[in-house]
Amino acid sequence: MIQVKHNAPKTSNTPHDYYVLAFYHLTSIEDPDLEVETQKAFIAERSITCRLYVSQGGINGQMSAYRDDAIAYMEWMQKRTLFKDMPFKVHYWHEHVFPRQQVKKRKELVALGREVDFDKRGTHLSPSAWKEMLENEKKSLLIDVRNSYEYDVGHFEGAENPECETFKEFTAYTEKLADRYPDEKPPVMMYCTGGIRCEFYSVLLKEKGFEEVYQLEGGVIDYGIKEGGDHWKGKLFVFDDRMTVPIAEGETEKTGKCMFCETTSEHYYNCANMECNRLFLSCPQCLEMRVGCCSEVCKSSEKIRPYHHQDPHKPFKKYYHYFGYVKDIKDPEQKGKKSAAGTVPMNLDRKER
Ligand SMILES: [Zn+2]
Ligand SMILES: [Zn+2]
Repeated sequence: MIQVKHNAPKTSNTPHDYYVLAFYHLTSIEDPDLEVETQKAFIAERSITCRLYVSQGGINGQMSAYRDDAIAYMEWMQKRTLFKDMPFKVHYWHEHVFPRQQVKKRKELVALGREVDFDKRGTHLSPSAWKEMLENEKKSLLIDVRNSYEYDVGHFEGAENPECETFKEFTAYTEKLADRYPDEKPPVMMYCTGGIRCEFYSVLLKEKGFEEVYQLEGGVIDYGIKEGGDHWKGKLFVFDDRMTVPIAEGETEKTGKCMFCETTSEHYYNCANMECNRLFLSCPQCLEMRVGCCSEVCKSSEKIRPYHHQDPHKPFKKYYHYFGYVKDIKDPEQKGKKSAAGTVPMNLDRKER
């Protein structure tokens, strides 16, 4: 039977009948195409939306599912030899958070642009061991292995922001970091959203001579579920309709700032100019003044999505939802037995990468 922790944060009083799952497993998958088909067959008729990637190196998934279907999926996966005991991180929500069912084969599980030798990974720390080290080990360098826009809205206290816009840019950052410590390298503690990026990044650092490298197992998601919000500031950026979530119950100091007036804001928006779509933090007032756009230039574009006052931070939909140009669109939601999220895929690449 699946053990589900029930202390994940709830954000409203509506029933939280949906589970948002995050999981990955590094294992040798001989036939990724077959695994893609196996996954598709299992989820097809269930109330599940997801982004699932399969490669020869393993599986990386994010999913929202109606409770019973989430439990069925977790039990099914954990019974299979290949994914035995794979841990799932679970949040609760009131609706689906992905636009549809997406299962794809990928050459790389994480877009790094090179192979890594997993035997050279860092030391995994459980959330409790991580917390203890944060409190007692002051010499180590704390690195946030996520993109800059994720850091901006929330991070561990004292963490370094590598200021990368994509995961690939971490290669250049690593060079600079190694140069900063030409002689003795400090111990490094690193974390990311769900843990997978550290599996790759710890290898890069060790190759550069950083000998003592610690990585947070299960990432910030698991830390929040198991240890709560201590030492964390702000919200956690997530790659789905929720955009940002608290990592645990209770308030933490906010770190996000409106990019126009610099007042505190934890709301991300995609620029309403469909040719821009830039992701930015804004307060509601500044957003309203710019009809949802990131700049004056974008405001004068002809391709502006209607601005929704109610829930402007929901990710945007494809152009045909706004401009009525509907051709023969294949929409998997139409054949699902239960209704899925009302959105279709975003143009902007919002995968964890
Ligand atoms: Zn503002
Ligand atoms: Zn813009």
